Amino acid sequence: MRKKMVAANWKMNLLPAEAEELFNALLVQKEWPKDVQILVFPPAVYLQHFSQVKDDRISVGIQNFFPKEAGAYTGEISVTQAKSCGAEYALIGHSERRAYFGEHSDFLKTKVDAALEHDVHPIFCCGEPLDIREANQEKAFVKQQLIDSLFHLTREEILKTTIAYEPVWAIGTGKTASVAQAEDMHQSIRDWLTENYSIEIANQISILYGGSCSPENAAELFACPNVDGGLIGGASLNAEAFSNIIKAF
Ligand code: PEP
Repeated sequence: MRKKMVAANWKMNLLPAEAEELFNALLVQKEWPKDVQILVFPPAVYLQHFSQVKDDRISVGIQNFFPKEAGAYTGEISVTQAKSCGAEYALIGHSERRAYFGEHSDFLKTKVDAALEHDVHPIFCCGEPLDIREANQEKAFVKQQLIDSLFHLTREEILKTTIAYEPVWAIGTGKTASVAQAEDMHQSIRDWLTENYSIEIANQISILYGGSCSPENAAELFACPNVDGGLIGGASLNAEAFSNIIKAF
């Protein structure tokens, strides 16, 4: 059985007191389904603190790292440093990193490898921009992203990986993929996993949806057979909204 997951990507938001308030508001939440893995990706400066005060329902992860062991990379954080501060998961391939920081597929491949080498689980983000969707090329585009940065992994490695389908036109825009669009792409991703690995492996890998997911649309998205949860940006900055998304399962 693959894991149901709901992940909070706080991005570059919240001052320490605000982050503390939000995290504490999550810790007092009750009635989260027990079979849902909850992940929080705070800004890296808060990672160690939240990894120490969190409860067993929550795992924390790093939003970004640099795929070198150590050395003269001013301003960067290695995956080993992130892991030492409590990161069990790492976001890789988020469209904001691809767009604003020029992270291309070969570099993302090295990030996936570096995370796995240190036993940090990659949440690999993929998704097409609007012009590609309008040209009906979204399947070819997303498949290529997976081929370029993920499908070199061995069977053991891919099993430690989660995929997040995040259509770029839906991130932070208030536009959500329709249930049919989300399920269609998630089914295709599972088919490509089957082609490249096996049906047994494809059925064990969680595929999350991301892009303006909210308490209003989460239940219908999570009801799709191939949607195993969500990667949540904006709505994760509100404890009640995030909690209601978790409860939508
Ligand atoms: C994201 O950044 O991964 C995301 C899904 O953001 P939002 O929920 O705000 O669209």
